[in-house]
Amino acid sequence: MSIQSSDVNRSSIVLFSEQAQVTRLKLTLRLLLSIFVLLLLSELYFTGMSALAIAMITSFIILTLLYYWASPDTGSVIAGMLLWSVAVFITYACWLGNGIFDTSVLAFPCLLMLAIVISSKLIFISLYVYLVGALCFFAVVHNQSLLTGAILFQGLPMWGRVFSYIIILTLFSVGVFLIFSDIRKRFKNILQKNAALESKLEIFRRRSRFDQLTALPNENACKTDLATTLQKQKTSGHILAFITLSVNNLQSTRMNYSHSLCDDALKLLAQRLTTFVNEKTTIYRFQQNEFVILKHSIDHRSISKFVEKVYQLSSQTYHVNDFDVSLQPSIGIALAPFDGTTMEELRHNSHLAMHAQSNDNKSDFSFFDKAMAEAEQKRLELTKALKGAIANDELVLHFQPKIDLSSGQIIGAEALIRWINPVHGFVPPTLFIPLAEQAGVITDITHWVIEQSVLACKQWHDLGFNKLCIAVNLSAEDFKRGSLSTHTMSALHKVDLPAHFLELELTESMLMDDINFIQKQINELRSLGISFSIDDFGTGYSNLGYLTKFNVSTLKLDRSFVMNICQSTNELQIVKAIIGMSKSLGITNVAEGVEDKETGCVLANLGCEMGQGYYWSKPLPQEAFIALLSAQ
Ligand code: C2E
Ligand code: CA
Ligand code: CA
Repeated sequence: MSIQSSDVNRSSIVLFSEQAQVTRLKLTLRLLLSIFVLLLLSELYFTGMSALAIAMITSFIILTLLYYWASPDTGSVIAGMLLWSVAVFITYACWLGNGIFDTSVLAFPCLLMLAIVISSKLIFISLYVYLVGALCFFAVVHNQSLLTGAILFQGLPMWGRVFSYIIILTLFSVGVFLIFSDIRKRFKNILQKNAALESKLEIFRRRSRFDQLTALPNENACKTDLATTLQKQKTSGHILAFITLSVNNLQSTRMNYSHSLCDDALKLLAQRLTTFVNEKTTIYRFQQNEFVILKHSIDHRSISKFVEKVYQLSSQTYHVNDFDVSLQPSIGIALAPFDGTTMEELRHNSHLAMHAQSNDNKSDFSFFDKAMAEAEQKRLELTKALKGAIANDELVLHFQPKIDLSSGQIIGAEALIRWINPVHGFVPPTLFIPLAEQAGVITDITHWVIEQSVLACKQWHDLGFNKLCIAVNLSAEDFKRGSLSTHTMSALHKVDLPAHFLELELTESMLMDDINFIQKQINELRSLGISFSIDDFGTGYSNLGYLTKFNVSTLKLDRSFVMNICQSTNELQIVKAIIGMSKSLGITNVAEGVEDKETGCVLANLGCEMGQGYYWSKPLPQEAFIALLSAQ
């Protein structure tokens, strides 16, 4: 838009610039000088040296001076002086001649025309008033028979008079023609620039409606299309499905391959989706991993069938640069007009449906329903309540013992947070930790957990259990502020607990974010004596590279494998392989979620070093945990 206005300004500058006005003024002056020369010659030839001839010579001299003074700075003054000199001259010529019957009266309209072209409104109006006044004056003068100069022109022959008419008419016509052809030329210039500008604007308009990578229409286009569609839909009675397809694993695909390869895969996905386009279906790309399909349909069932096909096609492998890349689509559907009547509402609700689908993992896609909106409302309320949880003393820590499988002794504990809110009651950490991460309060919670954990551990030591370690769960967000190591060290300092009694638990997904920044902080904490473990091993990417890269000391086998080892040989084999691998890397292994004696024995036989689970103890409050230690 800025380009548009600046170009228009430039065009008007071309037309009305001071330089253009001076050119026009000089052209007018040249023209008037020519008229004066011709009229003077005619006067000298027909009458000889008369008062009119002297007036013409004077005017000629004045106009010549004005011609040389004319510049961008003096343009408007010179234009005024020129017009007024000519006006005075014409009036004088009329006075010397036949008043309103004189040839010179012919110059009155021409002069006004000139005033319009070369000068300002003020000069035009004043001239107009002056000329009208002059005409009235001559009428009075005629009536009173006061016109002495009429004698001079009485002798003017017929041809002399015609000649004067022809000179004035021809030269004014030529002058006005030249001035207007100059204006026309400049207008043509403006029109050409306008056309160029229009085509540029069209390109911009197109760009603002289309996604650069996939050439699909974008969010802006969807917004306008949707507004028209929803308007039409009021009368058609059809359902409009707003289908959001998001590629879940885009980030990890970028990490595993490259950005350009990932972009190529997205282009292929866009091509596949384009095969569905018809008069009832339109595809858009909103952001990096978000595609939107607008689909008109008569019923819910046909939308389900359609989305099923979209899911099938988009989840098939993409062959890019000799690699087979898989993209994991997540699909959520909101139906207009039931689930919303604006793009914001439909998009929001399709996102809620999509997240519900990613969480349940059973179906390939999900339709929005009111329960999802209620759950979101609940999440919002919890988030609000969570912000005051620390200050209101609503958080407590429980400790779950870690057992040495060979001796059966407690060798440490994992701190697990509990939130009891006066309104919402007990809220499980699996629900509120993700909320705390989204709301930006997780770092404060982690700082609190670390402080309380090292304090609890110090109390065990003071009671004589001075070999026990404490493990604290971290969240990816905790690394973002960069204050983790300072805070952790000051917490340890405060209670005077050596750093090697503290272990921080990480998950693999946390290590995918900003690897270098996270690794720097981990190295710093490790150098101070704190150890690290990988939690839930086996559920994520199970990337062995991370174990060595981040120099972790412990690997915690996820409960989902451990709980089934007595029933499933597959899981037994997986657990066996992980234990073998961790041993060969010199990493301690801990089996989580051990609920019975049999599982504990199998794990011990497989060489697992430590266990944690309900079989030994549930997570306990500090007093109960101390009682358990004492009983041991
Ligand atoms: P996690 O770190 O994997 O913790 C183990 C979870 O398994 C705990 O659930 C624990 O109570 C449960 N568990 C332990 N043994 C057994 C067993 O034998 N059977 C069964 N069924 N469950 C067992 P909890 O306390 O509900 O915590 C859930 C998750 O919440 C934790 O998983 C952790 O990811 C997160 N979390 C808990 N406390 C904190 C915290 O202070 N900070 C952060 N960032 N996350 C935390
Ligand atoms: Ca844990
Ligand atoms: Ca775990």
